[in-house]
Amino acid sequence: MATKGRQMYEGKAKKVFETDDPTLCIVSYKDDATAFNGLKKGTITGKGVINNRLTNHLMEKLEKEAGIPTHFVQELSDTDTLVRKVSIVPLEVIVRNTVAGSLAKRVGKPEGTVLPCPVLEFCYKDDELGDPMVNDYHILAMGWCSAGTLSQIKDYALRINDYLVSYFRQIGIDLIDFKLEFGITNDGKLVLADEISPDTCRFWDSRTHEKLDKDRFRRDLGNVEGAYREVLSRVFGDRT
Ligand code: ADP
Ligand code: UDP
Repeated sequence: MATKGRQMYEGKAKKVFETDDPTLCIVSYKDDATAFNGLKKGTITGKGVINNRLTNHLMEKLEKEAGIPTHFVQELSDTDTLVRKVSIVPLEVIVRNTVAGSLAKRVGKPEGTVLPCPVLEFCYKDDELGDPMVNDYHILAMGWCSAGTLSQIKDYALRINDYLVSYFRQIGIDLIDFKLEFGITNDGKLVLADEISPDTCRFWDSRTHEKLDKDRFRRDLGNVEGAYREVLSRVFGDRT
């Protein structure tokens, strides 16, 4: 069992620790919540445990059932997970199935407009710049990743979307949009990293369209913890 070493990084939602194996690290999920690039801060009780468990479950399924390589190695506790240490490609890869959030503002369409095909967007991961949206040309010209890696990221992102849309549909949840991060392992392999959770996905109840994600925190809609717990119980059924 890997032991937790020096803290490498503390982010807004997770801490990352070294281990005795230089190819592995431990991510530790926090209850801290932020929105609007850190301007709004709060705590969502139980979020760390829920996001840890959901991410690990979804990454395991993506590996086994959709053939997507991920950083997941082993769940160590309610909040801590052993993952492959990667060099993060500095892009937020956003996949959208329905108009919401910043896309609604950008194109002037109401939230809830179903898109005829998925929309893929990239943002440059830089908090100081406010994670600006960029395109393929920026990515290649700035050297954020190679053309081969970019093409592989697009292929994985769309396959992850296909898998997750049908997975969530079976448990009565519409997957509106979500954000992914990818990284490169020390042996040069591209893998899905970071997390997949109500912090990084928009989930709407298929029947009532109730929001079951971080928009409840961003928009002060109340019952934030209840929404996160609802996603957990739909995913794990009685095993929560
Ligand atoms: P942020 O940095 O946006 O505040 P988090 O609080 O989620 O985000 O911090 C987790 C950090 O760890 C992120 O910067 C993420 O890119 C990085 N990360 C995620 N998975 C890995 C991994 N397998 N190896 C190294 N870094 C990772
Ligand atoms: N997202 C994220 N982290 C970010 C920005 C976006 O996880 O830093 C997710 C967000 O939860 C949503 C999707 O990416 O599921 C699209 O977000 P959008 O661009 O609409 O962002 P908003 O401006 O609404 O945060």
